[in-house]
Amino acid sequence: MKAISLFSGGLDSILAIKLIQDQGIEVEGIYVDLGFEANKEKKEYLKNIAEKLNIKLHIIDKKEEYIKNILFNPVYGYGKNMNPCIDCHAFMIRSAKELMEKVGAKFIISGEVVGQRPMSQRLPALNSVNKLAKADGLILRPLSAKLLPPTIPEIKGWVDREKLLDISGRDRKRQLELAKKYNLENFESPAGGCLLTDINFSKRLKDFSKYLTLTPNEIDILKVGRHINYNGYKIIIGRNKDENPILKEYKGEKFVKMFPKGFAGPVGLIQSDAPENVKQKAADFMISYTKFDKGDIIINQEIFKGQKIDKKEIQKYII
Ligand code: SF4
Repeated sequence: MKAISLFSGGLDSILAIKLIQDQGIEVEGIYVDLGFEANKEKKEYLKNIAEKLNIKLHIIDKKEEYIKNILFNPVYGYGKNMNPCIDCHAFMIRSAKELMEKVGAKFIISGEVVGQRPMSQRLPALNSVNKLAKADGLILRPLSAKLLPPTIPEIKGWVDREKLLDISGRDRKRQLELAKKYNLENFESPAGGCLLTDINFSKRLKDFSKYLTLTPNEIDILKVGRHINYNGYKIIIGRNKDENPILKEYKGEKFVKMFPKGFAGPVGLIQSDAPENVKQKAADFMISYTKFDKGDIIINQEIFKGQKIDKKEIQKYII
């Protein structure tokens, strides 16, 4: 008997796996890569934990499909920011179901706990997820199973419902006790979660999608830099030596790169279809973030003479 586990690397998803492994069931993990993870090292961390748990981990890139079908058109709307959590969970479960069928597993497990998160883990929300994912009866949530209707693996006796738990709410006490039992006390999940729940990232994303169609190429450049909207054209300027390479590596077609000519300064991006006057302004913005009062900025092989402008003036356009 094999199950697929939605694997976030968080303590709850690890405990859910442990509870099912304890019943002699093989578990394989799935991490659906949507691109909006704040932590760059997340995948390495997940591989590491998967190895410790002795599970095979499938990291599946679903950025394109997610952007196209879920992010801007969620059936159940958004949380506080641009996070369509119910639809997003359902999307992950659908991805898990595809994998389940492919590898001959029989059900899906998830570390969700009833009532733990305000939007996506209330009971009606879990039902909506089941319905939307068309996986009713196939999703077992071992940490809260006893509070939920029996699922197919429980009804068919593949899993002993009695050995599952009835945890609910935001209190983490029982999870921490279990972590102790399984020797996971030193376990630390990496900082930084989903950027769709972040107010500033959401503002940038909203503003971006007013003017341009997002593709996976633009996700990383939304995570870094100063974002400027000048007359409806987007300009992004790197803030430091960690951000500049990310802008420099941009591979899409919606933006062209901006570099200082012959002196140290930030890397920038400007919308490819920006007219000359916007490019000139972008060159001025670029210079304003160097220690010089003027200088040449190369924009797509053309040279613009930039002049420093007051930061207060720039502030009006920052998203
Ligand atoms: S927090 Fe982000 S990744 Fe998690 S369900 Fe919500 S939108 Fe999806």
